[in-house]
Amino acid sequence: MYPWLSGQQQQLTALIRQQHLGHALLLKGVEGVGKRELAQALAHALLCQHTNDGHHTSGEQGVPCGHCHSCQLMAAGNHSDLHVISGSARSIGVDAIRQLTQVLNESARLSHGKVAVIEQAEKMTEAAANALLKTLEEPAGEATLLLTSSHPERLLPTIRSRCQQWLLPVPESDVVLRWLTGQGLDPSLAALNVNQGSPLNTRDYLIAGTDRRRRELLQQFVELAKQPRTLTSVQSGLLEQPVHLLWLQMLLQDALQLALGLSPAGLRLADSEPLCRTLSQHGPERLTQALNSLLQLRQTLQPGTGRPVNTGLQLGQWLNDWLINTR
Ligand SMILES: [Zn+2]
Repeated sequence: MYPWLSGQQQQLTALIRQQHLGHALLLKGVEGVGKRELAQALAHALLCQHTNDGHHTSGEQGVPCGHCHSCQLMAAGNHSDLHVISGSARSIGVDAIRQLTQVLNESARLSHGKVAVIEQAEKMTEAAANALLKTLEEPAGEATLLLTSSHPERLLPTIRSRCQQWLLPVPESDVVLRWLTGQGLDPSLAALNVNQGSPLNTRDYLIAGTDRRRRELLQQFVELAKQPRTLTSVQSGLLEQPVHLLWLQMLLQDALQLALGLSPAGLRLADSEPLCRTLSQHGPERLTQALNSLLQLRQTLQPGTGRPVNTGLQLGQWLNDWLINTR
């Protein structure tokens, strides 16, 4: 288990051991904190034939034995009493939930209860959510439902209230940095910050080489005043991914902090401090102005804000304004 989740895992398996885990658990936490892995581990502990019986004395309590028939099936990835709805689909439809309910209502093959996992439960359609609600109202036998969600606020309140809710907090940065280093990566606090502290997202970001891309792009932006001919390439770079505009925002925020004479200790993009220093020369007023219009621009890009916007055009205007006003 990931180091930042082992405490949570121990607490939850203690609840399983004492049979205090409700029939439905909702694991909440930011994207990439490890909800799926924890749900898998809990499902494993729930299904192991020796987790709860008190006879298993070797090793940690509440941890699956690894030897029983159930554990062997788990290891082989085909346990008939475990039903997983993966979060990889775009949405979770009513048929998937009906099928799950049916499976839960059949008696367990290994007579040790059944477990269903619904990953990214917020992807359930309204019909699916209503179907699940029925199951939550009349829990089937010894079935346990494990839901995970990065956006629990999008779930029906009635679903949330029928689950035991468990929040996985964003882990301490030093724990994550140490773990990333142990994975053979070269992490920085800035990399973690642009990923909102999410360990697995930061890992994927580093593996993909996106951290280098961030530093390059922000450098190009800062040098734009000297090389206005690169405007088109900066513009298309910033448009590649919505998060690229967040990078720019964080850079400007850091620059503003320096322009206001505040300590560089709190910079979120500490590895771009020289760039922030250059930008800070434009003064707090200009930076605040640029930041405000950038925030507005990012807001119009949020899904569900109504009419479609021509992002390229808007960003082009923003960059032109920036060039004119910082000359
Ligand atoms: Zn076992």
